[in-house]
Amino acid sequence: MMPDSPQFVPAVRAALLDWYDAHARALPWRVGPHERAAGVRPDPYRVWLSEVMLQQTTVPHATAYFLDFTRRWPTVADLAAVADGDLMAAWAGLGYYARARNLLACARAVASEHGGVFPDDEAGLLALPGVGAYTAAAVAAIAFDRPANVVDGNVERVTARLFAVETPLPAAKPELKRLAATLVRDDRPGDWAQALMDLGATVCRPKAPLCDRCPLAFGCAAFRTGDPGRYALKTKKVARPRRKGAVFVLRDGQGRVALERRPDRGLLGAMLGLPTSAWDQTGAGVEAAPVPADWRATGEVEHVFTHFALTLTVFEATGQGDFIWTDEDEAAQALPSVFRKALRPPRSSRASGAASG
Ligand code: SF4
Repeated sequence: MMPDSPQFVPAVRAALLDWYDAHARALPWRVGPHERAAGVRPDPYRVWLSEVMLQQTTVPHATAYFLDFTRRWPTVADLAAVADGDLMAAWAGLGYYARARNLLACARAVASEHGGVFPDDEAGLLALPGVGAYTAAAVAAIAFDRPANVVDGNVERVTARLFAVETPLPAAKPELKRLAATLVRDDRPGDWAQALMDLGATVCRPKAPLCDRCPLAFGCAAFRTGDPGRYALKTKKVARPRRKGAVFVLRDGQGRVALERRPDRGLLGAMLGLPTSAWDQTGAGVEAAPVPADWRATGEVEHVFTHFALTLTVFEATGQGDFIWTDEDEAAQALPSVFRKALRPPRSSRASGAASG
């Protein structure tokens, strides 16, 4: 069946909701389709908490955190009362601490400004601190059965396949959102959102979609192409060319380091920097040193500029010369980061042994 058929949307919706009734994943924050049909309402706090966690990690990883959080803080008011440090400690392992801070800010806003009750529509949810468009739509649909268009990565992929969208991501995002919206109706919005998520997670998987088990194969344009795994298309990352060079850390033995003013034009133009060789494909070595000295190669630093990636071999020596001699601590603060890395290498930089020169 083609998307322009008047039967397309009703048939796709009926097929997916029937499939969800039979195959919905049992998740600790979820009210399944049969309970929901029997009138059980999801707890918005649990829906919101699970959605925030799931933006960080996979379902199996999030599940342990979700169970721990809801055991310790069964309501949004309990979570709002937790000390910042305790929340951060409980969040450890989920990454992105800014999200944990937003979580707490949102819980406190719900507790103090909304009497512990989550707003029940997208606009109200969106006004909460740290709640973005996706979370607002997901909570509105799943917790309150609002016909919100919930589009996460799984839904983007299913939509791209169902309609065989040829525009690559991320440029396709608005188109995918618009197409996903054509399938949303007032009937069972919470189940619909979760059915699409489940289909994407278990059947319409990123690699090797299981089209032979898919309830939507009859209407799926990507399936008809014979190569559904090609969708969703993604813009290929442009490989950055790599340049190499040498950078020279010359110290005077009195806490100062030799700097140069870079040429006005070009990369890092007119800024202070360490002396360097040219940066090109071949990469100069110690022969490019600005003055003769007992140069030793002490490591490498990597830096990524907009148009190329750079590997610099760091050479160090003690000596004299006509430079801008600057207190090393001051230089470490003031230099552009590529030079700062050479002066104070991050722990990940690779030592490459000593070389004479
Ligand atoms: Fe995905 Fe295949 Fe189903 Fe199309 S038929 S929605 S590609 S699993």
